Amino acid sequence: NTFSEIDLGEMMNQNIRRCKYAKPTPVQRYAIPIALAGRDLMACAQTGSGKTAAFCFPIISGIMREQYGQRSRGGRTVYPFGLILSPTRELSCQIHDEAKKFSYQTGVKVVVAYGGAPINQQLRELERGVDILVATPGRLVDLLERARVSLQSIRYLALDEADRMLDMGFEPQIRKIVEQMDMPNRGVRQTMLFSATFPREIQRLASDFLSNYIFLAV
Ligand code: AMP
Repeated sequence: NTFSEIDLGEMMNQNIRRCKYAKPTPVQRYAIPIALAGRDLMACAQTGSGKTAAFCFPIISGIMREQYGQRSRGGRTVYPFGLILSPTRELSCQIHDEAKKFSYQTGVKVVVAYGGAPINQQLRELERGVDILVATPGRLVDLLERARVSLQSIRYLALDEADRMLDMGFEPQIRKIVEQMDMPNRGVRQTMLFSATFPREIQRLASDFLSNYIFLAV
């Protein structure tokens, strides 16, 4: 019932203490160990449940463990290890802010890209290297078409507020994005799908994108 019982590593535990999170929320208590065990996850969780940390902690800790020494490659095309998709600019920026706190001094670099804003500054930020990209689906498709981001090295994919993304009409973009990950490396990708509701359309996404997944409702 404490974060130190979950095997996230000392550096992340320090960052969690800095955030003043005394103990894990229910979604964190159940989702983080499942994700650390390498399993795909479909979680029904509301805003305010602490779901951002529930998907960020395992992604950051996994990248620290596995990709040590080859992180944050910059350049014209960047190859992130983690991708977090979210429906809006506001939500993407919130996730980015939290993920930066969680990854403080770990060397894991988090960059955000969203639509409705000029792309040039986002391109410059990406060029300096990125381990975890937080993005809205439309802007990410744009970056893929410009060949500024490649999804070939993605190991961790989190879809946040998936029901809202579908309500906003992002399903074609999301499918296009996930297809690009499937070509070279299906099987190495770990996927976490978060949604407040679990209607038929979300069940279909889960069965298309997740493999042998654990269902969690909190
Ligand atoms: P979320 O559901 O991810 O949007 O998180 C809602 C709010 O709860 C955010 O302000 C988080 O910083 C905060 N939070 C997340 N996990 C914890 C925790 N274990 N203890 C205290 N606050 C938390």
